Amino acid sequence: MRKEFLKKAEETLLETKKQLLREIQGRVKEETEGSKDEGRDTYDLASDERDREINFILNDREREKLLAIEEALQRIKDKTYGICECGCENCEGEIQLGRLKILPFTRLCVKCQEEMEKENKLQKKFEDERSYRKLAITDIEEENF
Ligand SMILES: [Zn+2]
Repeated sequence: MRKEFLKKAEETLLETKKQLLREIQGRVKEETEGSKDEGRDTYDLASDERDREINFILNDREREKLLAIEEALQRIKDKTYGICECGCENCEGEIQLGRLKILPFTRLCVKCQEEMEKENKLQKKFEDERSYRKLAITDIEEENF
């Protein structure tokens, strides 16, 4: 993969991360201002304490996104960025550049992504059916008692 592209991807990732953190910090500030009794300013806290606070206030979606960004940055360092992690037989190996531009922290090529989504749906359907069957069996067992 070309160096320029990696550089651009890294910048995009860092920018996305910064934006996300800014949003979160804005929220932290709002919430702290709402409770002035505690008499502390979020921005005065030691940075690891602030990180902990930010971590606490993250919702699952934000935490996942931050993690995905961190992992993508790590993959750039490890020189594995842009290689699909699936490795199944349909796999294209390298993730298309166009896809990486839109989704810089994606780990799967289009084909594997589609495959995974199909599987997730199947898995969900299977689990629904299983819990339904389990429910049905439990009903019968209870009737026997
Ligand atoms: Zn793939």
